[in-house]
Amino acid sequence: MSTLQIGLVLPDVLGTYGDDGNALVLRQRARMRGFDANIVRIHLGDPIPTSLDVYCLGGGEDTAQILAAEHINTDGGLHKAAAAGRPILAICAGLQVLGESFRADNRMVTGAGLIDATTGSLKKRFIGELQSTPHPNDGGITAGLTEPLTGFGNHFGSSILGSDAKPLGIVTHGVGNSDTEQPTYEGAVQGSIICTYMHGPVLARNPQLADLLLAWALDMPMSELQPLDLPVVDKLRRERLQR
Ligand code: GLN
Repeated sequence: MSTLQIGLVLPDVLGTYGDDGNALVLRQRARMRGFDANIVRIHLGDPIPTSLDVYCLGGGEDTAQILAAEHINTDGGLHKAAAAGRPILAICAGLQVLGESFRADNRMVTGAGLIDATTGSLKKRFIGELQSTPHPNDGGITAGLTEPLTGFGNHFGSSILGSDAKPLGIVTHGVGNSDTEQPTYEGAVQGSIICTYMHGPVLARNPQLADLLLAWALDMPMSELQPLDLPVVDKLRRERLQR
């Protein structure tokens, strides 16, 4: 196959929380299996290419994420990629920006409308470890996830999902999408888009999620990806899940 193209969308405004690492993890896990892979960094003001193999969006501060939403909506490239079924991973502010609307800087802002979610505010900012078990999401892109998900949360947004979006996980520790609703859901999945509040970066902590995205980007079943023996990743995961 030709070189795998991994889009890192707006790292200049959605790059506060180390989530650029998700693109690095995808590139490394591809290269370790013998695939050529490149990261395409798309900055504020750049057109968003429509035909990359996978897209990553990170978290960001309130003012910065407003700029991100405006650019994504004006440009339209990410909408075309989503309509074509390209896999997209969005973290925290990325989740909020891809939703219908979100609260930031004390006002409601129009999101990209790619995820059926509306983001208001938590009762209290959540900062800490976050864990979930994958939601079954029958027939959805994340249906193959079996391993617990782990990440680090730091958010004030509270995202309520509409019927078109399914949760990524059910919270077992920490605060996910909301601190009032029961059960407490974490993240959102809709079509080819996977969103989560988990930083870490999430793909470093959750190799199964990384491989799910990678397999989709490479257009092959996850079961055909050569297994990787990475004791350091297993150790990190064990440590984080033990707490
Ligand atoms: N600014 C948003 C919030 O506080 C997103 C933060 C983030 O991306 N970590 O909810």
